Amino acid sequence: MASRACPSCGSTVHTGVEVQGVYDGALYWVCGFGHRYHRWPDGDWRREKAEEHWMRVDENTRVTSND
Ligand SMILES: [Zn+2]
Repeated sequence: MASRACPSCGSTVHTGVEVQGVYDGALYWVCGFGHRYHRWPDGDWRREKAEEHWMRVDENTRVTSND
């Protein structure tokens, strides 16, 4: 993991965020400074889901170390 740097701060230390019921695995990244950024490329349905979810973190969201 840590293959991508945060576009906001350049940190390569990130945590995957899994949204249960959407995707089995990390849907997007959060760096050590709390910046959220995309795991998936433009046009990927998971990227769209990440955008839907990352502004409203709720009980269905949990932080995972899965890459
Ligand atoms: Zn960052």
